[in-house]
Amino acid sequence: MHDAVWLNANLATMTPHGAIVDGALAVRQGRISWVGPRSAWKDKAHEEHDARGAWMLPGFVDCHTHLVYAGTRAHEFELRLQGASYEDIAKAGGGIVSTVRATRSASEAELLALAQKRLERWIAEGTAVIEVKSGYGLDRETELKMLRVARRLGGVTVKTTFLGAHAVPEEYKGRADAYIDLVRKEVLPAAEAEKLVDAVDAFCERIAFNRHQTARVFTAAEKLKLPVKLHADQLSDLGGAALAAKHGALSADHLEYTSDSGVEAMARARTVAVLLPGAFYFLRETRLPPIAALRRHRVPIALGTDHNPGSSPLSSPLLAMNLACTLFHLTPDEALAGFTINGARALGMQETHGSLEVGKAADLALWEVEAPAELAYAIGANPCVGRIRLYASAQIGSGP
Ligand SMILES: [Zn+2]
Repeated sequence: MHDAVWLNANLATMTPHGAIVDGALAVRQGRISWVGPRSAWKDKAHEEHDARGAWMLPGFVDCHTHLVYAGTRAHEFELRLQGASYEDIAKAGGGIVSTVRATRSASEAELLALAQKRLERWIAEGTAVIEVKSGYGLDRETELKMLRVARRLGGVTVKTTFLGAHAVPEEYKGRADAYIDLVRKEVLPAAEAEKLVDAVDAFCERIAFNRHQTARVFTAAEKLKLPVKLHADQLSDLGGAALAAKHGALSADHLEYTSDSGVEAMARARTVAVLLPGAFYFLRETRLPPIAALRRHRVPIALGTDHNPGSSPLSSPLLAMNLACTLFHLTPDEALAGFTINGARALGMQETHGSLEVGKAADLALWEVEAPAELAYAIGANPCVGRIRLYASAQIGSGP
């Protein structure tokens, strides 16, 4: 006996089997227990729901955000429109450093209220999982505060990523190696001791950390048996993608300047490519990520909003999908996979999320569209008409 069944639903399964028109999907104890054409449904369920011809998809997985922060950077937007570059602003003491100042002085309760309010926009668009990075503290106290706030967010499953190596804080100016020592020896171990870290990330770029410094963060993560990810090759080719692959990273993110050999290394290491069209659009970048090479080498492509106050103030998975299609020439199917199965892969959650398959989380969304491609096509529309969220509550009851 199943707990509930949805009939009269079209199912975008996000598996190689494709879509099931006029399907049925049942759940038991927070997990999907039956998927198939309605005509084949012969079982029984305690509750029977009519999906009224809506499309059912797995809840979205946004695998790259910087959702927890205080302050706004609208003024920098004005400056950039007058001709200043992202690097100019960073060198002039703006950029990440100004968000660090605001985030350090905000209380945990203030940060939580701000982030939860932002998160409601993802929830309204059928999101099941969101990844949230630290990286606006750049000191022990604030990095841990950000991760605690992320863990307290409600309404979705949260994955936390430690990004202590996001930028060199002002008090370590000119002493990046000493700051990396602090991250490795003090801040990351303290965050891990509080069980606040699901993965470790770094920003490998001319305006942040070099390959050697990044590798030192990775080896510290490996000692703690934590998976790694990387902000790689966004503004220049520092070989970040290949470095991430060498360390078996879950994902390498951005990738605008990644070379063919970087893509090959990712394919060998099964590292997911996370593309972030919001930052590309907002910074008016022109160098496209190597989409053809990623396809040729069958590297899974995930998408994220990269929500952050400086380079991607984007709060909409749907708009991110549209941008990925218009700017990066992804197909709508690729964009949907980017926010479902491949987003789950980028977080190491592909066994439980990202597709409609028996055994996976009953964390789903219903969409009033004629075809799933409409989700990547429309700009500024939100046809989400329902969420089914039974997985999280079932997990709470079942213990560790
Ligand atoms: Zn980012």
